[in-house]
Amino acid sequence: MKKVLVINTGGTIAMSMEDASESVKPMDDLAVQKMLPHVNRYAEVTTINYLNLPSPHITPPIMNDLRVLIEDECAKHHYEGVVVTHGTDTLEETAFFLDLTLNLSIPVAVTGAMRSSNELGADGPVNLISAVRTVVEPQSADKGVVVVFNDEIHAARHVTKTHTSNVATFQSPSYGPIGNVSKKEVSYHHYPLDREYYPITHANANVPLIKAVAGMNPEWLAFLLEQPIDGVVIEGFGLGNLPPAILPTLKQLIDKGIPVVMVSRCYNGQVQDVYGYEGGGHMLKQMGIIFSNGLNGQKARLKLMVALQQAGKSSELQQFFNH
Ligand code: ASP
Repeated sequence: MKKVLVINTGGTIAMSMEDASESVKPMDDLAVQKMLPHVNRYAEVTTINYLNLPSPHITPPIMNDLRVLIEDECAKHHYEGVVVTHGTDTLEETAFFLDLTLNLSIPVAVTGAMRSSNELGADGPVNLISAVRTVVEPQSADKGVVVVFNDEIHAARHVTKTHTSNVATFQSPSYGPIGNVSKKEVSYHHYPLDREYYPITHANANVPLIKAVAGMNPEWLAFLLEQPIDGVVIEGFGLGNLPPAILPTLKQLIDKGIPVVMVSRCYNGQVQDVYGYEGGGHMLKQMGIIFSNGLNGQKARLKLMVALQQAGKSSELQQFFNH
């Protein structure tokens, strides 16, 4: 049997509903460990109960510590796959961060649950089994970090949480899953794009994410001029357009050497410098705004944090968002 490392970080998969308060919270640090009898027939599992955090408490430095832990453990032991259990709220961010930065060739899957461990129809055990089955499947080699959830396998780069409570919450808009976990087999029907890998030492860059709205007040952005930020990501409209009122402030940020990355608040498609009116994408690109490549805002922010450690100058950053 293949050796698999399961690292628990918390989330609903490790939480229970407390009768008295009728609220879901972390109550048992060994909640995921108790599911292990279900997976023992698929792999020889070693567990590390690393954290028991709700995923809104996860930060990029914690993601980076997790990356280091995975690399260290895999250097010390001969694991053939790694599964990370994680709260679903920020799961896509941790999965994408690991996808960009893990120096590892074995399969890595991230999973979690929408229903807590003592709820009827709890999805944690089956998601954990599916994730373990996925990482021991030979075809999972070279797929980058994947998210395994509700019988589907998604590329970390494309997957996003789309529903607040449905167990089918993880979807990859425009792309779909890359594979499936059925009763008898784990199978793939798509290849993810070539994997990008960037060596990093930390994840401390200060990069806020701002969402554009109709009638946006430039003062909301002016605040950022006084902040010690390393970059900013803006979720613009449609193809990548912004309200003209915020352009002078954006220009000031760029003139200060703060890289500004544009993504769309649409959850399908890519931003492009098409529109030539004031605030249109064409003008924004000419101003020096970096256009991203279909990543959502939260992932573009992580990519900028990683890219800042690779690129020497702001002018070199665009290339990290071209593919
Ligand atoms: N709020 C929870 C968390 O992200 C939700 C979940 O785990 O699904 O930790």
